Amino acid sequence: MNISSRQLAGNRVRWGRDGNKSQVRATNMSVPIFKYHPDPIGTGSVEASDTECVCCGQKRGHIYSGSVFSVEELAERICPWCIADGSAHKKFDAEFTDAAGVGGYSRPPVVPNSVIEEVVFRTPGFSGWQQEHWLACCGDAAAFLGRAGRAELERQWPDAILSIQQECGMVNSPDWKSYLMALEKDGSPTAYVFRCLHCGKHLGYSDCD
Ligand SMILES: [Zn+2]
Ligand SMILES: [Zn+2]
Repeated sequence: MNISSRQLAGNRVRWGRDGNKSQVRATNMSVPIFKYHPDPIGTGSVEASDTECVCCGQKRGHIYSGSVFSVEELAERICPWCIADGSAHKKFDAEFTDAAGVGGYSRPPVVPNSVIEEVVFRTPGFSGWQQEHWLACCGDAAAFLGRAGRAELERQWPDAILSIQQECGMVNSPDWKSYLMALEKDGSPTAYVFRCLHCGKHLGYSDCD
């Protein structure tokens, strides 16, 4: 395991691993329900683990493995229950997604503050190659569904392809076809797919190592 850190404005640091890692499939599905991250085990942000949570002090069988924005190094040390009830945010002033990234860094923010707080304080984030975007649609944050390559996009989420193409500014680019071909779920570049909780549309963006 290779924990990386990146200094941010103020004294917060982004703790976590960049990009992908092998996934431990968990069988216990009793992790909390997150409106904006419906399958955190499937996306690899929550892993089966006997690590003790530094917030509740318990070994609850799962640990959060996405990015953490905090002063203290908390990567892979917080359980999903302490994210869900807000206690990890309260105790450590930890955030799990960069607030500016909710809505894809658009200014002014496209979603209400209460939504930004739910995503940033009480929802597991994920680990992208670069600082993560949390996409929004219909005035609300969208639900993160996971990483995708070309194969997953064409099979499961073909309607996300155009938004990925638009997001990276390649709508009229002759390089788009080869970029799409290069997208890999467990590689670089990779795409991140979301679903709007209102209109049901799939959205995405991509980044690389
Ligand atoms: Zn805990
Ligand atoms: Zn929508």
